[in-house]
Amino acid sequence: MKSNYKHIIKNAYKLTKSQKDNGQLATYIPELANVDPSMLGVHMTKVDGTNFGMGNHLDKFSIQSIAKVLSLTLAYKILGEKIWKRIDVEPSGTKFDSLLLLEINNGIPRNPFVNSGAIVICDILITHLKNASKEFLSFVRDISDLPDLTYSDKIADSEKATGYRNVALCNFIKSFGNIDNEPSEVLDFYFDMCSLEMNCEQVSRTFTFLANGGNKISDNKKIISNAKSKRINALMLTCGFYDESGEFAFKVGLPGKSGVGGGIVALYPNNYAIAVWSPKLNPNGNSYRGMKLLEEVTTHSELSIF
Ligand code: GLU
Repeated sequence: MKSNYKHIIKNAYKLTKSQKDNGQLATYIPELANVDPSMLGVHMTKVDGTNFGMGNHLDKFSIQSIAKVLSLTLAYKILGEKIWKRIDVEPSGTKFDSLLLLEINNGIPRNPFVNSGAIVICDILITHLKNASKEFLSFVRDISDLPDLTYSDKIADSEKATGYRNVALCNFIKSFGNIDNEPSEVLDFYFDMCSLEMNCEQVSRTFTFLANGGNKISDNKKIISNAKSKRINALMLTCGFYDESGEFAFKVGLPGKSGVGGGIVALYPNNYAIAVWSPKLNPNGNSYRGMKLLEEVTTHSELSIF
């Protein structure tokens, strides 16, 4: 990487911080409405281990849907290509929690990152693991080198209490025969999975395995094959940002995944992973300032895949 990445991140951070934040906090999960909306953090970790962060990059946030990449990684590792019989690999062009296309597609979600797809992934993990919640957590602890990582009961309970749309999605998919386990068990695991909390430094480090051919950078352990890592990156590029995935590719030009907690992770294969966090979301559910900051980073540098 020829560009001076620290300088580029500093400039992008300063510029974003100085501009007005137009988004709204996600309030449909009550606990997410209690977050300080002024937070802004960014952290890049390169595959050689060097890294740099700015702002609130060491403050933890609810990673929400960013965790869906990790649950997909585990399910794909276990089931291999058979997984695509249960979930498609196409952008949805609809809201992340939409029921619309499920009816037309006989209960097959458009991709693993919309809520319906991530719920089917949870069902797959429950079927194939003795204790999906526990084993998924150990998997993430291993990838992230965070042995003390736990689910946030506060966030999970808050979402459980109000997650009627996800309850509807899970039951609707089950009516087509694409959920094998009890919906309540699948949803409990889904809400736990979405409740993980990390800071930008931890998220960027965790996701370097997908920028490093499926291998962890700290000990070179293989998490997933290079071929599968390539496909997960392709899905992040085409489906990682709800119905704004085209816009993210257009403006930022990296595979990535956002979450309604205001976090975004993005990566450049063989180069780096970067995480940003700013809790206010644009109308499509993506961090307003997070997208701006990443656009700045990749537009004025050689840090985009395009
Ligand atoms: N737990 C959230 C939900 O199911 C995740 C949404 C997101 O981050 O995209 O609505």
